[in-house]
Amino acid sequence: MSKDPDKDALKKAWKEQQREKLVASIPMPQADLRALFDFLDREGAPPCDHTLRETIEFLKQRQLDVDRIIPWLHEYGGYCDCEVIFNVDDKFGEIVGR
Ligand SMILES: [Zn+2]
Repeated sequence: MSKDPDKDALKKAWKEQQREKLVASIPMPQADLRALFDFLDREGAPPCDHTLRETIEFLKQRQLDVDRIIPWLHEYGGYCDCEVIFNVDDKFGEIVGR
């Protein structure tokens, strides 16, 4: 049951690096990403129609770079509005303070 401190430190450093990579990849202000999650996750949101309709509407309203953000969402498994919540929020929610 002995813990190897070097291994722990390496693991921590690796995790930190992964997190920094994630943070650096976000193609919009973090506050906007958080607002996007909150918007999609709001009470009374329509059921997902298997497109990014709500997401795109939100991005356009905020005049964000849809053409850059959609491929980024795809990269993290967000191919429709509910997947943005399930997959992208799962990875980035904590980073943006959800
Ligand atoms: Zn969906």
